[in-house]
Amino acid sequence: MPRVNTVLGPIPTEELGLVAVHEHIGYGMPGSELDTKWWKTPEQRYEETVPKLRRFHEYGGGTFVDATGICNGRDVDYYRSLSAKTGVHIVASTGFVGGDTALPFFARASVDYLAGHFVHEITAGIGGTGGRAGVIKVGVSRGGRMTDLDKRIYRAAARAALTTGVPVLTHLAIDAENAIAIFEAEGLPLDRVLFGHVDDGVNADKTRDTWIAEQGGRVGFDTFGYETELEDPPFWARPRKERLEHFLRFIGQGHLGKVLASADANCSPLGWPGVKGHTVNYIFEDLIPDLRAAGLDEAAIHTIFVGNPADFLTIQN
Ligand SMILES: [Zn+2]
Repeated sequence: MPRVNTVLGPIPTEELGLVAVHEHIGYGMPGSELDTKWWKTPEQRYEETVPKLRRFHEYGGGTFVDATGICNGRDVDYYRSLSAKTGVHIVASTGFVGGDTALPFFARASVDYLAGHFVHEITAGIGGTGGRAGVIKVGVSRGGRMTDLDKRIYRAAARAALTTGVPVLTHLAIDAENAIAIFEAEGLPLDRVLFGHVDDGVNADKTRDTWIAEQGGRVGFDTFGYETELEDPPFWARPRKERLEHFLRFIGQGHLGKVLASADANCSPLGWPGVKGHTVNYIFEDLIPDLRAAGLDEAAIHTIFVGNPADFLTIQN
């Protein structure tokens, strides 16, 4: 039976429902948990997070993919309790947001070691939690080009994806030629890879979204809601209309079957204040209404938020 790993165990794909494919329960730089200014009690974190997940569930959200990965605040015991409390399926990631957020222990590791570690987190579980990873996170370090460590992580991710059947999700889709060369050399079909953040305000112009789709990759417009219209927009914000038009143009080019959309929001950010007024529920409160107003029909909306993520997340064997 087609299935997906969630933190509470594998579930049949048909139970995923509407998926937010790139989100964060709480993302922070390694070490932020040691900072006294930003440190939060477990109670504060629950208090900030539970209402957002409950609302997500009430709106009809089924599954929340936490794209946080190792070293950036991932906490699977906590995710398991959030999932049990709110009824939202939570999919956790193995892998790293980028080479530049991998702690030294992992930064020095070989491809074989990294691949073995990812496979263990997908098949045996993450630490002693019993929760298994359902996706592999990789990414491009700051600077716009893949570093040697980024490349080792991508190669290890490709091997772990082939061994286990779970997909790969990227932070940034810049320098995609190098990424695709690695996936092709390893023999990973590109429809097992979601190239994320093609819509972000810093990199959209440099990201070859159409080319990636033509090579067979999946394409993530997954920073929806980081808008210049916000009260205190982050540096990667973009005008709302411009992002929406970019998304609709891409779909209009015949790539509906390749797109995924998400908000990349933090329920309770770690070590930084987060972006005020932006939550995963942007998907329901703003994005889906905008898509309807732009003339997208319900079948297309279903493809973007249900069909495509189900195909992407289902473990291949
Ligand atoms: Zn993210």
